[in-house]
Amino acid sequence: MRIAFIGLGIMGSRMAANILSAHPDLHIYNRSVSKAQELVRNGGRLAASPAEAAENADVVFTMLSTPDAVREAALGTAGGFLSRMKANALWVDCSTVNPAFSREMAGETRERGLRFVDAPVAGSKLPAERGELLFLVGGEAGDLAEIRPLLEVMGKKTVHVGPAGSGTAMKMVVNLMLGQAMVAFSEAVAFAESIGLARSQVLDTLLGGATAAPFLQAKRSKIESGAYDTEFPLRWMLKDLDLVAGEAAASGAVLLAGSAAREAYALALKGGLGDVDFSAVFQLYRKGGR
Ligand code: NAP
Repeated sequence: MRIAFIGLGIMGSRMAANILSAHPDLHIYNRSVSKAQELVRNGGRLAASPAEAAENADVVFTMLSTPDAVREAALGTAGGFLSRMKANALWVDCSTVNPAFSREMAGETRERGLRFVDAPVAGSKLPAERGELLFLVGGEAGDLAEIRPLLEVMGKKTVHVGPAGSGTAMKMVVNLMLGQAMVAFSEAVAFAESIGLARSQVLDTLLGGATAAPFLQAKRSKIESGAYDTEFPLRWMLKDLDLVAGEAAASGAVLLAGSAAREAYALALKGGLGDVDFSAVFQLYRKGGR
């Protein structure tokens, strides 16, 4: 089986490495060539464009930052990969995008006699490296059955949410919670310190109790050290909350905590924290912005 993987950032490079260990005929592409070098050393075949990577592939994975980046790779004026895929081949978009965009891409794919599945992931850098991601899949059951063995190389669980777009819909929900939880936690810790409590005792209490989301345990050392090495870039958290806001505007859903969280990440981005881990939103609450 010939596989293409387009987008070798924090997540894509690790997901592609897991595929490569099981499927040596892997054709890869990344805008910045340097990020592909390790995969090339391990046998990945580097393509000069997304279209070249996708040519003759049975399955094409994308793991790109934003809907615009995905659109450019798939349909770009310079020759998107959809125009070069072989008949009936399957495109699996793992990028976090909004469901309306996924449905649009499903339509573009169908018009060209191709197939489409949205399969965004929950889990960050380490789960990607360990092949422990959760895939949230939208698309036809038969198409999922075909790619399930590939998803199992990269993940520990796959949920078939429903038709095209429903995987990304569920991912919007997950990241709305994720973004809010990080801000709520930061605010609670900062409030605790402002009223004289010791940070370590507050962290022990919150993380040992039922109110803190489980992922926050892994953010403790970042908050304690002030070193926010990147697992999930803060700018993509803001992008996701922007996508959520767009969907909510269309659906009529009320976003109160979500809007406040979005504002917090926007402020943090303005403060130069876009490329570090999203948990750096905690910095907003430090006295004097230190
Ligand atoms: P990343 O390290 O910033 O990688 C982004 C990828 O998109 C890179 O390959 C980048 O290429 C490419 N890209 C961006 N703009 C492009 C453009 N205009 N044209 C072509 N390629 C472009 O981000 P990541 O953390 O791997 O995230 C990738 C996706 O997964 C995002 O949608 C993110 O929201 C989602 N996600 C991330 C995590 C996480 O914990 N990190 C978890 C779940 C889902 P260059 O290398 O050339 O910049």
